[in-house]
Amino acid sequence: MQLQFATMEKEVDINKVVKQHQEINNFLTGGFTVRGQNTGQEQISDNEPSCGLNDNTTIELEKIADEVRQCRKCDLGSLRTNAVPGEGKPNACIMFVGEGPGADEDAQGRPFVGRAGKLLDKVIAACGLKRSEVWIGNILKCRPPGNRDPRADEIINCFPYLQRQIEIINPEIIVALGAPAARTLLNTNKSIGQLRGQFYEYYAGLGRKPIKVMPTYHTAYLLRNYSMENRQKVWEDMKKVLAELGLPIPEHVKK
Ligand code: URA
Repeated sequence: MQLQFATMEKEVDINKVVKQHQEINNFLTGGFTVRGQNTGQEQISDNEPSCGLNDNTTIELEKIADEVRQCRKCDLGSLRTNAVPGEGKPNACIMFVGEGPGADEDAQGRPFVGRAGKLLDKVIAACGLKRSEVWIGNILKCRPPGNRDPRADEIINCFPYLQRQIEIINPEIIVALGAPAARTLLNTNKSIGQLRGQFYEYYAGLGRKPIKVMPTYHTAYLLRNYSMENRQKVWEDMKKVLAELGLPIPEHVKK
């Protein structure tokens, strides 16, 4: 249906607008069905994508995780309760990279398990994926006190762990959540507002195909700035990721 708004002097496709609002709404309420009936249990998807370099991925990632748990390269090593090496599918096609553990992550030794993590789970579900189908980690593996921003020296010490994890997992796409992740991966000082919404390239080594990076807003930022506009921007970014991977944009059916 086309509606003509005289004052706006612009044709509006009302179906498109309604669909967009429904998608965004579903994205944060979780009231949608992803690939069939939503039973609340994880189902094996029929077209689960796989990337990864070799069969030893799991062992190599566990070696890095052990190193991270013993790391004392900076002061954060003595302040942490638990290091948070990252977790997920060893040959995931999508990696989500955040800034660093918060209090909940520090307590559990797992990434994105607090409020920002619950929202990330919804973003992943809105994409028709499960947490177990992606890999989730951070630039910093230990929590900065009071959740302050990571310091440059901490990033310099810690980033090589993530670089090795990226090399081993060899994803198609890295979703960089927030400015510290995007800036570190892309070696830039630009703001997340300038960076988000476009693909960039990350080079994991000579002779290796560059990995696409999609910067977007961190879910903690979304929680603090909970506007339709911001949610819509993240959803637009994620739709680009799905399109790049050749994955369907799920039909969101509200229950
Ligand atoms: N924020 C992050 O950047 N990482 C986490 O693991 C949790 C919150």
